[in-house]
Amino acid sequence: MDSVGVAAAAPDAGPGPAWQSKCPWGAPSTTSISCSLADVMSEQLAKELQLEEENAAFPEVVAAAEGPFITGENIDTSSDLMLAQMLQMEFDREYDAQLRREEKKINGDSKVSISFENYRKVHPYDSDSSEDEVDWQDTRHDPYRADKPTTTPRRGFIGKGKDITTKHDEVVCGRKNTARMENFAPEFQVGDGIGMDLKLSNQVFNALKQHAYSEERRSARLHEKKEHSTAEKAVDPKTRLLLYKMVNSGMLETITGCISTGKESVVFHAYGGNATEDKVIPPECAIKVFKTTLNEFKNRDKYIKDDYRFKDRFSKLNPRKIIRMWAEKEMHNLTRMQNAGIPCPQVVILKKHVLVMSFIGQDQVPAPKLKDVTLSSEDMKKAYYQILNMMQQLYRECNLVHADLSEYNMLWHDGKVWLIDVSQSVEPTHPHGLEFLFRDCRNVSQFFQKGGVAEALNERELFNAVSGLNITADNEVDFQAEIEALEKMNEDHVQNHGKKLSTFSSDGDPPIYDE
Ligand code: ADP
Ligand code: MG
Repeated sequence: MDSVGVAAAAPDAGPGPAWQSKCPWGAPSTTSISCSLADVMSEQLAKELQLEEENAAFPEVVAAAEGPFITGENIDTSSDLMLAQMLQMEFDREYDAQLRREEKKINGDSKVSISFENYRKVHPYDSDSSEDEVDWQDTRHDPYRADKPTTTPRRGFIGKGKDITTKHDEVVCGRKNTARMENFAPEFQVGDGIGMDLKLSNQVFNALKQHAYSEERRSARLHEKKEHSTAEKAVDPKTRLLLYKMVNSGMLETITGCISTGKESVVFHAYGGNATEDKVIPPECAIKVFKTTLNEFKNRDKYIKDDYRFKDRFSKLNPRKIIRMWAEKEMHNLTRMQNAGIPCPQVVILKKHVLVMSFIGQDQVPAPKLKDVTLSSEDMKKAYYQILNMMQQLYRECNLVHADLSEYNMLWHDGKVWLIDVSQSVEPTHPHGLEFLFRDCRNVSQFFQKGGVAEALNERELFNAVSGLNITADNEVDFQAEIEALEKMNEDHVQNHGKKLSTFSSDGDPPIYDE
């Protein structure tokens, strides 16, 4: 059985009348939670709600102690589905290789070539690769890549003079058609005609081919439906195969288990594998898998849709690709931070919706979040100044606003604070960039004021210190109004000049434009 799948299946949802736990829609909620828009977007609230949900429906996924999730030798052999997928992948590769050989043999020098492309076993692992994604960043040979299309042969006949045989010859054609039946999907019964000298007319062959093809599609569709329904909470088979390939290629040594399951992502711990020519793999890695179920991403649209870096692409993308874009965004943002020297995970590789980065922590134990660690007052003060500094660097050097900064996304490791979770980070000139910054400032300010750091600036002072703006309003309402006015001014510039301000200025200085 699929171990993660089992964990994902909701057990009885706690105490309550029997009819409630049996109800397919779950127990009706009796508590109604009212909160502001800012709270809705806050990770803190999301985490709390999610924790309740998870405790009820998802109790055993964090199972690092149960042994490795994927290793080179033992690839989750407890999962029948996984094993079947692995075998299927091997089989598909052989099948495709055979298909290509057949294709070459049959086409030979013929003028008109026949393509077996439609019979290729497009494995789910390969099926939705797209050109616009950042993919494997190495250049090693990919065994899944199709051969170059064969060029049109010059001759369409063999023999000479009266012995000439063209490709239209009935006997040759019939035999070829029979041989081609071998390439129908394996579950399609073709009888033992292949062993005889059977000659199939083109008409019969085409009808058979059509039928085999639609049968194959039908079974693929059924299969896919099943996959999607089980992929709700845990990692779906496609993702598992992706992870498997990372282990199989030697890039990762072992994927030991899950360290976090959130609404939008699942994070695993892994031991790094062999370095390649251009890549050093850290000894321990974190693998962030962005969930491919779309529901949770709906209310994140505004972070990416309005980010001009991704704007043009957003409208053309399907939801699956949008999720990959979150992973891509996290990669780009981490890289910027790394370049500025901000302590954060180092990007190892991005593959579709899976981001591999260095692990912050040691021996499979992730560094604690700031919210979970008890610091001495000295360390607390040190952490505060470090964060103030990092926020300024992020804004000025990386041109970024974290947009989900709180004690939940800061880890304490090696006596300092590390920033994580930057998939939603935006540039300050994002239409809501300054509002996001203000929210970040409020979280940081409140955390350290509550934590007894007397020097901690209040949220408005912190906002000005980070952004270099000089908003003078002495109450939150007016302060926010000024922030929104600045954002609007920037948007008006975009409307009128097609250009964004590259930085904001409230000192009456002329605005600075992007080149
Ligand atoms: P989410 O969007 O689910 O909040 P995060 O990036 O915050 O995703 O990751 C969730 C949790 O996984 C973090 O709180 C942290 O405990 C752990 N985590 C994420 N990245 C790393 C990393 N590079 N090293 C160690 N732990 C990590
Ligand atoms: Mg987080």
